[in-house]
Amino acid sequence: MCAAICVSVFFLGLAGCKTKADSSQPNTKDAPFMSAVTVAPPQAADEAPPPEKTGGFDGKRAYAQVAKQVSFGPRPSGSPAIAKTQDYILAELKSYGCAAEVDSFSADTPAGRLPMKNILVKIPGEKPGVILLGTHYDTKRLENFVGADDGGSSTGVMLELARLLCSQHGRYAVWIAFFDGEEAVRPEWKDPDNCYGSREMAARFAISGDLTKIKAFLLADIVGTRTPHFKRETYSTKALVDLVWGVAKRLGYGSIFVDESSAVEDDHQSFLKRRVPSVDVIDLDNGPGGDVFYWHTPEDTLDKISPKTLAIVGHVFLESVKELQAK
Ligand SMILES: [Zn+2]
Repeated sequence: MCAAICVSVFFLGLAGCKTKADSSQPNTKDAPFMSAVTVAPPQAADEAPPPEKTGGFDGKRAYAQVAKQVSFGPRPSGSPAIAKTQDYILAELKSYGCAAEVDSFSADTPAGRLPMKNILVKIPGEKPGVILLGTHYDTKRLENFVGADDGGSSTGVMLELARLLCSQHGRYAVWIAFFDGEEAVRPEWKDPDNCYGSREMAARFAISGDLTKIKAFLLADIVGTRTPHFKRETYSTKALVDLVWGVAKRLGYGSIFVDESSAVEDDHQSFLKRRVPSVDVIDLDNGPGGDVFYWHTPEDTLDKISPKTLAIVGHVFLESVKELQAK
């Protein structure tokens, strides 16, 4: 994804990003320490609350899902590591009793034609209408980039949501999408070199007629940082932003789901373009000293991820789904 703030970084080219990561004094100095933290358990302040405090959502389990993905290494579209990730996601979903469909397709990219897979969990409802949740699970093509937060965190949250939701049948169906190919293959974010998976799924839904059944699309991306501030994403549908931010405030997370705004291009746009009400929950504060200062650098590692943040996001998604089920 790309925010207004990252455009300027991208215009400098990849070298600009790398320079930013490598020349940052604290990062360089902390590097060996950070590596040590990677294998250590999260710090006390990042511990997940007990699941009963977050609607049953288990932040520890979501964190373990991030760790598992990171263990596969860099996971760009078409790589052997993403194939392992796909097998893992499908095996997890099966173990929860989720019905999952796989759409294997190929996408023409600047790196040639790449095989991609979208995975879609379908939990039936009693009435027509679908609440769609989504994440991307591919990681950016960068050397030594394991995407703990960018790709890993939201996928960990969606796996944990699938574990909880697959056994519940509500008024409306809940579908959970795991998109391939969100990341631009080139270093810079320039259409149409991005959002391959979500574009494919939205196009398929348009043909099948499923598109008109979707009442809301809730996207999560980069949701695991230790000091989260989710700003209202301005391309998103205002009514849905209000719903999600209202839920967060009611649950006591008003200092995390803040009333500032920022514009981020992401998978939700594939659906917004087709008039599906959509919201993106993302923390892309990637400036110096920002929450995700490590964005699109090899520093996006497991030690940046807080089980507590994952639990908060999971709680907000669970309650938002409940609220949408009641409408
Ligand atoms: Zn990214």
